Amino acid sequence: MNDRIAEEKITVSLMIHMYCRHKEGNRELCPDCTGLLAYALDRLDRCKYSDNKPTCRNCTVHCYNSMMRARIRKVMRWAGPRIILHHPARAIKHLIREIRNHRL
Ligand SMILES: [Zn+2]
Repeated sequence: MNDRIAEEKITVSLMIHMYCRHKEGNRELCPDCTGLLAYALDRLDRCKYSDNKPTCRNCTVHCYNSMMRARIRKVMRWAGPRIILHHPARAIKHLIREIRNHRL
């Protein structure tokens, strides 16, 4: 497993955990979020971009099915701004990657 995918896995896991605990008020990851996380990690394992992977928002291959995509979007929308407060270094890395992917 390469670093790029490993890092994305940590970020997505962190976001889903934050969402479930703080938005949904669960002490432990609920079955829905556990399923979503397993799905997200599985997608990353299969991601054909590996080291050159753009962040999923910029990805040209929409590998999520529509139901899972709607759910992960909800999580990202909620957790995205908050991860900047709690894990600035990680969030900044993620942002830099997004900007680079847009070739600004
Ligand atoms: Zn949950």
